[in-house]
Amino acid sequence: MNLSEIHYPRSIQEFLTLVDKEKQVRIIAGATTFGIEQRTRYLSFEPSIACIHYIPELSSLHKTERMISLGAVCTLASLEHIYPFDRAQARDLLRSIGTSAVRELATIGGHIMYSKRFLALWALLASLDAEVEFRSPSKTTIKNIWYLADQDGLPNMEQNMLLTRVRVPLQALDHLFIRKIGSGIFPEGDGGYLVSTASIDRRSLANFKLVIAGERAFRDIEAEQKIASSSFPLSNKTIQSATRLYGESLRKRGYWNTEVLLPLISQALQDLQRTRI
Ligand SMILES: Cc1cc2nc3c(=O)[nH]c(=O)nc-3n(C[C@H](O)[C@H](O)[C@H](O)COP(=O)(O)OP(=O)(O)OC[C@H]3O[C@@H](n4cnc5c(N)ncnc54)[C@H](O)[C@@H]3O)c2cc1C
Repeated sequence: MNLSEIHYPRSIQEFLTLVDKEKQVRIIAGATTFGIEQRTRYLSFEPSIACIHYIPELSSLHKTERMISLGAVCTLASLEHIYPFDRAQARDLLRSIGTSAVRELATIGGHIMYSKRFLALWALLASLDAEVEFRSPSKTTIKNIWYLADQDGLPNMEQNMLLTRVRVPLQALDHLFIRKIGSGIFPEGDGGYLVSTASIDRRSLANFKLVIAGERAFRDIEAEQKIASSSFPLSNKTIQSATRLYGESLRKRGYWNTEVLLPLISQALQDLQRTRI
């Protein structure tokens, strides 16, 4: 077993000072993935570990008229009645993660920063255009969560940066469609989620997103724009041509099981077509 020093910073500044001094610091939040990473019976820990669970700034929630800002160490259990998890489908998705004991420890930041694959909430957060804020001793970066996937759709988590906040824009969320695909999600497996969301403004769609995330993440911006620019309710012709676009781009990426996904995409669009506001 390696010797490690475990630090318990009490503020973001204290954490950043530690990173500046040590250069390489392993972050742990709820530590629910820790055991999974120990592949042999000899435990192996980094020399310097920072437990960020006791940083109060990271567990606060802020709400404005336009968005909700979640501190990275908010536990999954604490989010059950917070937008978007105040919607039944999103809450069911949240509650499908592990057990209540796991959700009491697991944090939203650790969930997003799991580097091996995209976990259950990722597709939902990406479809809502969530932003992630990172801090390092030298800079603060804010980006759309979508940029945590690389060009091939694989997880590309920020290294040596602290995820501090997750900001979710508030929207009407008139359409919310969530389907699980495949089997295992954690610690690995071929499972994932397809999520589509939309806000409807009288006879037009104010917003439409469809994201699939598991081992990789997928989204087709051209197809989303085609749907978002169509009048509402969607015509069968729009659904057919958008489904065709999705089919082409899934096949082009050469990774996805198009036969499984296309019927689900078509189902999501029909669900949107039937939405009553
Ligand atoms: C028994 C069990 C069952 C599970 N079932 C499911 C399931 O059904 N579906 C599902 O989606 N997930 C499942 N999970 C995974 C669970 O969602 C994650 O383990 C959890 O969300 C990770 O959160 P954490 O706070 O414990 O992260 P940690 O384990 O502390 O950290 C996870 C990773 O993120 C990094 N990290 C954490 N916080 C930050 C931060 N603020 N900034 C930068 N890096 C950070 C850490 O360095 C580490 O690499 C399960 C987990 C367990 C243990």
